[in-house]
Order: sequence, then C-alpha cells, then structure tokens
Amino acid sequence: MNVNDSEKIVALLRDEGYETTDNAEGADLILVNTCSIREKAAQKAFSQLGRFRMMKERNPDLILAVGGCLAQEWGQNILARAPYLNVVFGTHNIHGLPEFIRRVGNNGSRVVETAFAPSVKSLNIMARPEKGAVSAYVTIMQGCNNFCAYCVVPHLRGPEESRPAEDILAEVETLADHGVREVTLLGQNVNAYGKTLGGSPGFPQLLRAIGRIRGIERIRFTTSHPRDLSEDLMRCFAEVDAMCNHIHLPVQSGSDTILGRMNRGYTRGQYLEKIEGLRHYCPEISVTSDVIVGFPGETEADYQATLALMETVTFDNLFSFKYSERKGTAAVGFDRQVPEKVKSERLQRLQALQQEHTLKRNRMLEGRVKVVMVEGKSKNSDRDMTGRTRCNKIVNFRGGRKLAGKTCSVLIKKAHLHSLRGEPAGGAKDPCSSK
Ligand code: SAM
Ligand code: SF4
Repeated sequence: MNVNDSEKIVALLRDEGYETTDNAEGADLILVNTCSIREKAAQKAFSQLGRFRMMKERNPDLILAVGGCLAQEWGQNILARAPYLNVVFGTHNIHGLPEFIRRVGNNGSRVVETAFAPSVKSLNIMARPEKGAVSAYVTIMQGCNNFCAYCVVPHLRGPEESRPAEDILAEVETLADHGVREVTLLGQNVNAYGKTLGGSPGFPQLLRAIGRIRGIERIRFTTSHPRDLSEDLMRCFAEVDAMCNHIHLPVQSGSDTILGRMNRGYTRGQYLEKIEGLRHYCPEISVTSDVIVGFPGETEADYQATLALMETVTFDNLFSFKYSERKGTAAVGFDRQVPEKVKSERLQRLQALQQEHTLKRNRMLEGRVKVVMVEGKSKNSDRDMTGRTRCNKIVNFRGGRKLAGKTCSVLIKKAHLHSLRGEPAGGAKDPCSSK
C-alpha cells in the first residue's frame, strides 16, 4: 500500500514539474513515505530523516517532507523531534501535496496537514506505471474497522471506505489501454469491499467485472481477512480466468485463546475450513500468511498450536513478526507481556519450520512448465530475466531484455527458498508471447 501511495505521490509531483532522481544530494525535494506498523519501521523512518537533515544543512533550499503513518501518528509533535521538516502530511492528505509544497516555496511556511477527511480525492489519485510496465496496483478501499488488538492501522488510516466500483473499473480499463496486463487490488480487508457502499457490488462481483476487462490477464489482491472470506469469493478462483491461484490470508496465530485476545473474529477451526474451501475450488492455490509471535499472554502451548497449524496448512510462504507494542492499541493494556528473548527464540524456530515448508512447496513445481510474466532483468545476473508464475513464485531464467513484458512458458529445473530456476520450455518454437 505504501509503494502504491508513493507511486501516486510521484504522479502528482510530475504534474508539478518534478522528476525523480537517484541522486538525493542533487534533489530539490525529498519526501519520506513512512510506515509505523511496528516500532522498528518507525525507528527506521526517523533515522532516515536524520540523514536527510544533514543534506538540508548543506542545501537550505531543499524541501523535506514526511508522509504516511508516522506523520499521521505524530502530527504537529513530529516537529519537536525533527524541526527541520517543511511538510508533514497524513494518510488522507496526499491529494493536497502539490499545494503544500507551493506554500513552502512561496513563503517558506511550514505545513502540517494530518486531518482525516472524506478520502475519495486521495483514493482516486492514479499512479502512472512506468513505460512498458505490465503490472500495476489499484487501490480499491482504504482504512479498516476491525481494530485487531495489536494493530495501529485503524487509528492511522481511518475508518474503512470502499472506492466506487465505476472509478475502479475506469482505472483498470485505462491501465489495460496502456498495456498493463496484471493488476493487484489493494485494501486492508478487501473481502469487506462494498460494505460502505451499501453492499453492492461486493468483492466477488468486483472481481468478476475486472475479469471481463479486455487485456487483463492476471488479477491479484491483498489483503484478505479470513473472517470475511465468502464461498462466493472462493468460487471466483475456479470461475474467473484471470484470477491468479494465490491468496495471502493472514492467520496471526493458531491458538483460539490468542485469536480471541487479538480480536480477530475467527477460530483456528474456521480458518482451516476456509483453507479447505479454497483448495476445493482451486486445488493448486498457493497460500501465504502472516503470523505474530509473542502476543501478550502467548504461552508455549499457544505457540505450539501455531506451529501445528503451519504443519496442517503448509503455507507457501509466511511473513512472521515479533509482537511490537503500538501506542493507542488495545493490547497495550494487556497483562502477561512476553519477554523479548522468548519472542526472538519463538520467531527463530517458526521461521526454520517455514523454510522447510517453503522449500517443500517450491520443490513440487520442479519438472513442471509454468507460465511466467516477465518483469525485467534479474537482480543476480545480466544474462537472466525474472518474472512470476500465476501462483506468485519468482522464476529466473536465461533470456534477453526483449522478453520484458512477455509471457513465457518456463520449465522449472530447480527450487530454491526465495525463487525458482527455470529454462524456456522446449517443444514450443517460441515459448514467449506478448500476450
Ligand atoms: N490487514 C491485514 C490483515 O488483517 O491481516 C494486515 C495489515 S498489517 C499492515 C500487516 C501485518 O503486520 C499483519 O498481518 C500483522 O501480522 C503484522 N502486524 C500488525 N501489527 C503488528 C504489531 N503490533 N506487532 C507485530 N506485527 C504486527
Ligand atoms: Fe490491522 Fe486487523 Fe485491520 Fe488488518 S484487519 S489492518 S491487522 S486492524
């Protein structure tokens, strides 16, 4: 979501005459788009601001701006810690950025804008994909009403708000006209899409409508809340050709006690039923998830229940985090905080188990031909190209730059932890096409 917000910011500033640069020293404006989901992310943002402060001392005309969740959280108070900032803008104020920057340029004033406002304006800012890009993000909603006990998002991104379907479809059509063939729909809880619009269309209907847009071959979305995952959505995996066979379905814990304390709204059994349903409609679906270890009150038995759930599901990949206390969230007042050392040790064991599972799932693709949408040159070798399968695995294979943006049939030769190694599939004369 932050990457997409940054793309929108770049699009807005391009209209003001700005260009992006890789050379921060020569920049007229530096904007830090921050996350504060965990304490570590917030600390990183502050240390980055500290580095840019030194540049501002060398170049007093440099405009320094900070946006995103950290700016939202701190508001005016951020100036006490970072008085050198020119613009502080919150998560609902992106659309105002050109005006804020003009205000700084005209009279050197300092701008702090972090009020929540009806956000249709921000939701409708369109990022402009780079020339030749085949993939793009599309925001379909913002905010969240769930108030999971550990999470700062509802406090910093405001209440859930769905974007009108006609605006979303118009954006996807424009992207398709510009050559985009894969869209990733973004929201904190995409399964609740439509609730703030009176319920219709819901998320499955939206997916079906996007699936009918000419040129869109792949649809992805994130994030799905298990509680709101309906059978109709599961059916979309079987019925909508463009749907990719991957779902990110954060479970957070395998213990019912902890899920209850987290206010997640589902039990371990209900989560497993959803996985069964997904695999019924889409047997090859790849499933990824998020887990938090060391939530207040998590005993060794609760933690073991999470490991057991992982054994039952065998996730393709897992994003795992140590619980991090966030100001203003319900869990701050919870008793039985877990010591840091225990959290670290639990995280390590859990990650070791997940590595086994990831490798196991990746190895199941060895010897198979997979369709890869080529994103560009591989990071590791000039002679390799990189892309993704429909199930969201990264594949590297030998090939030239002219393959960028094409769809190639690739024979998977070797599975690694973070990627697959393949070669253009034999047999077909040209394994790659521009469709
Ligand atoms: N909306 C998504 C959902 O409900 O699953 C997730 C949004 S959050 C940006 C991404 C992940 O960060 C969460 O799934 C959770 O695992 C993790 N997370 C959020 N708050 C956290 C906290 N206080 N400490 C550790 N991890 C946290
Ligand atoms: Fe945070 Fe829960 Fe909302 Fe996800 S659903 S953004 S974890 S409050």
